[in-house]
Amino acid sequence: MKQLITLIAAGFLVTAALAQQPGQPPTSLAPTPLPGLHYTNEFFPGTTYRDSVPTPQSLLGFAIGDRAASAAEIERCLKAWAAAAPDRTRLVEYARTYENRPLHYLIVTVPAQMARLAEIEAGLARLGDPRKCPEKEAEDLIARLPAVAWLAYTIHGDETEGSDAALAVLYHLIAADDPGVEKLLTDVVVIVDPLMNPDGRDRFIKMIAENRGAMPNIDDQSLLHRGYWPRGRGNHYLFDLNRDLIYGVHPETRGRLREIARWNPQLFVDAHGMGAHDSHLFSPPREPINPNIPPGRKSWGQVFARDQAAAFDRHRLFYYTGEWHEEWYPGYTDGWASYRGAIGILYEQARVAEDGVRRAEGRILSYRESLHHHVIGSFANLATLQQNAKALRQYFYDTRKVALDPKGPYADRTFAILPTGNRSRLRDLASLLLLEGIELHQAARDFTVPSAIDQLGRETKDRKIPAGTILIANRQPLGNLVATMLEFDPRLSTTALEEERKELLSKGESRIYDTTAWNLTMMFGLEALTLPVALPSAAEPYRPTSAPAPLLTGGTNAPIAYVIDGADDRAPAAAARLLERGLQVRVAEKPFRFDERTFARGSVVVALLDNRSFTGDLRDAVVTGAKELELSAVAIGSGLGPGDLPDLGGRHFKRLEPPRIALLTRGAVNPGDYGAIWFVLDHHLGVRHSHVDDGGGMDLGRYNVMIIPDGRPGSLSSNLVANLKDWVKSGGTLIGIADASEPFVAEKAQFSKVRLLPDVFGKLADYELAVLREWLGRTVALPSPEAIWSHRATPTLQYPWQAVDGEHPEEKELKKRDAWQRLFMPQGALVASRVDTNHWLTFGCDEPLPVLVGHDPILMAAEGVEAPIRYGYLTATNRPANPTNRTEASTVSKPAGADDSARSDNVKKEGDKKDKKEPPRVGWSALPPGTEMHLRMSGLLWPEATHRLANGAYVTRESFGRGQIILFATPPTFRGAARGTMRVFLNAVVCGPGYGAAQPVRP
Ligand SMILES: [Zn+2]
Repeated sequence: MKQLITLIAAGFLVTAALAQQPGQPPTSLAPTPLPGLHYTNEFFPGTTYRDSVPTPQSLLGFAIGDRAASAAEIERCLKAWAAAAPDRTRLVEYARTYENRPLHYLIVTVPAQMARLAEIEAGLARLGDPRKCPEKEAEDLIARLPAVAWLAYTIHGDETEGSDAALAVLYHLIAADDPGVEKLLTDVVVIVDPLMNPDGRDRFIKMIAENRGAMPNIDDQSLLHRGYWPRGRGNHYLFDLNRDLIYGVHPETRGRLREIARWNPQLFVDAHGMGAHDSHLFSPPREPINPNIPPGRKSWGQVFARDQAAAFDRHRLFYYTGEWHEEWYPGYTDGWASYRGAIGILYEQARVAEDGVRRAEGRILSYRESLHHHVIGSFANLATLQQNAKALRQYFYDTRKVALDPKGPYADRTFAILPTGNRSRLRDLASLLLLEGIELHQAARDFTVPSAIDQLGRETKDRKIPAGTILIANRQPLGNLVATMLEFDPRLSTTALEEERKELLSKGESRIYDTTAWNLTMMFGLEALTLPVALPSAAEPYRPTSAPAPLLTGGTNAPIAYVIDGADDRAPAAAARLLERGLQVRVAEKPFRFDERTFARGSVVVALLDNRSFTGDLRDAVVTGAKELELSAVAIGSGLGPGDLPDLGGRHFKRLEPPRIALLTRGAVNPGDYGAIWFVLDHHLGVRHSHVDDGGGMDLGRYNVMIIPDGRPGSLSSNLVANLKDWVKSGGTLIGIADASEPFVAEKAQFSKVRLLPDVFGKLADYELAVLREWLGRTVALPSPEAIWSHRATPTLQYPWQAVDGEHPEEKELKKRDAWQRLFMPQGALVASRVDTNHWLTFGCDEPLPVLVGHDPILMAAEGVEAPIRYGYLTATNRPANPTNRTEASTVSKPAGADDSARSDNVKKEGDKKDKKEPPRVGWSALPPGTEMHLRMSGLLWPEATHRLANGAYVTRESFGRGQIILFATPPTFRGAARGTMRVFLNAVVCGPGYGAAQPVRP
């Protein structure tokens, strides 16, 4: 009865709302007729429904497909149906979004199966680990368990039709009084996740409401259908959740990882929307397909596709498979389920936000029809699963068995993640792998393996593996997932490469939909090895390290300072949060040693002297700050460093200025990059910051750090650029990401000295010299002692450019080459970078640092600009120097001071006559003599792209007036998962106002 009253009340409100839209006069004009807008086909003709289950109309106040239901309306249906049919349903809230919306799945089956859900769950889990489930038992389980289907909808919030389709699917499954449905639910336990991204959906639903007029709208260019920045695709932080499955950054994903693993489905559907004028796509995908997807998925995908196509044919609908749908990147939801032994299927339906969309052929694709297509596909797939349930349970078991086969593809391979002082980064990777369901071990003691391959593909013999190394045997039930997440260098087939190159050359487009590299250890910037052995006997089960003590007294009763070690990525957060608490904080630019304890550069120092005017309890504040971040603060009794190591009172402990951060948003800012930075500031730094737009009238003086995320080039207003220039001049730290750098580096802006590659072809010699000088500065090779100490002037000098010889080609030729190379820029590849480990921006970083590079600008740094990280990791080579270099060049391995060269200008001239060949250059710069360059770590990086990227700056820093400009060539916080480069970003934000900008004294 109570329910009835609620329904009447809800119905009344809806009627009232329809009668009088906000802002509309009471006697509004009725819309003129729009033939074709109302799609009247019944979804399930002739079905009768049980009265005990409330209809969607009664719960929503409108029929499914009349408009897009909100997250709360969907939740209302789920709860009402779960309450009305407790013997056939179980509702599970599996996570909460950042905006505190619940995420649900609803299990639907017949009462008999519902009664044995626990048994089904346990049985499939057992089947999933053939080590515990011998053939005989497996045979029995395969025979008597039902199959499990997981249908998931609308992970992209503005692809609305999926969730409304889910309601139609659910109501039919729960309420249909139909023997066919009864039989289906006897054979298949159906799990429906109707809305994978409630925050995104509700953001978009609000946009629809804001843009709704009195008349229906069928123009897909209209804001009603498109929404506006940042649209509804991403979650609260605007992340694409359909890329997050391998990174597990967000609660939506983390909940799903846990629950999909719990139910071990045999079918996994992921329903999306695409361009309004497209038709309908479903799996299987075309090449490139990730080599770790179980091979059986291909043939099973075809079986499902045949049935799905037949269902669409019966309705005389268009559809297609393959085309743009490939499956190289493993972070998609349907793909992720496939690695686990399910048949993952993607749907992409021509999307309509509400109402309908007029297409070129004249017909209207209504909202209701659009969601009907998802319903048709869902039931076609359920029927295929039902018909092949036993075989698909067998396939699930066999997939796991192959992964465990001692003669199988994953035998004799173990991934090793080496110990590091960066505890929080290592801990986060380990906990992610555990969440993914992957078994971890650790080395109980040091041991030696006959051979090991590093992340650059180099093999070392008799490699010692230290105790504490995390070991991940590839041979385990989830071997396919282990391989795809941790394999350093999966390779595309020759056919896929040929197809890709053909497409790049003929159309200037890639056939690959997402990044071609994602290796977890590289993304995390952790050193790892591939060991060509099964799990070594030194392995013991992994135990997460417990949080360290927040205060180590270090034996002193009268501390002069507290130190938090800088090796850990949380050190910048500790500094920033202590500053926010009002403490004075310093950061060490060099490693140091106090009280016989060594600390890494980037360590945070809170000195008692600095904090004389701090009114609270300093010790408490430091301990609380350390504890919150699971770090240790060490009390130090003396500031004297042994020998030449820094002393506390010297210049190597820079005082930090509290960062007052502004982050630019809206306009042409890339929502994904903005969201990732926002997420990192909130969750990796944990400090207050402001989000500002380019609207004008802003007082920049409130901030000392301004972050401009990646965005459309040329989109910042000239007003903002001019204001930023003044603001930097007076002490601000400007951080620009990728294409956002463009207005700052243009010569006419007279701002940054950094340039983009195509703008400096006439001056490459200057940039080449900067590269050589940097390198010589790192690897100092002294002139001969005679030359240094001789009382007679040396008649000839050696210049770095002479060692590399030759001229750059003409500007015209360089432009032509660059345009050609640009065609081959990566879709996303991991590139090895060299790191200046004396620079404050690289605290916590080692080399080679993997950087994920896509179609990003190439930043050129010369005189007046620091480039602490450049693309191209250099190592000494034993190869003979190029024949155009007549004298043997110095090698990195030579001890400093060795007499390395007697070449003279005379010899050079001789050589010029003999040989006009170009010197050995990778792209625009010669290799420093005696070095070789490593660029590609993982993913597809064409040789042409390596030449464009080589020596380009990944990050630059330069002074401008009293402030500084820091530019990143590619987004350092990519997907919230690029932990290696994220550290550089955190250093820039937290240390920038202390390190590169003038320190204000407030009299
Ligand atoms: Zn989508």
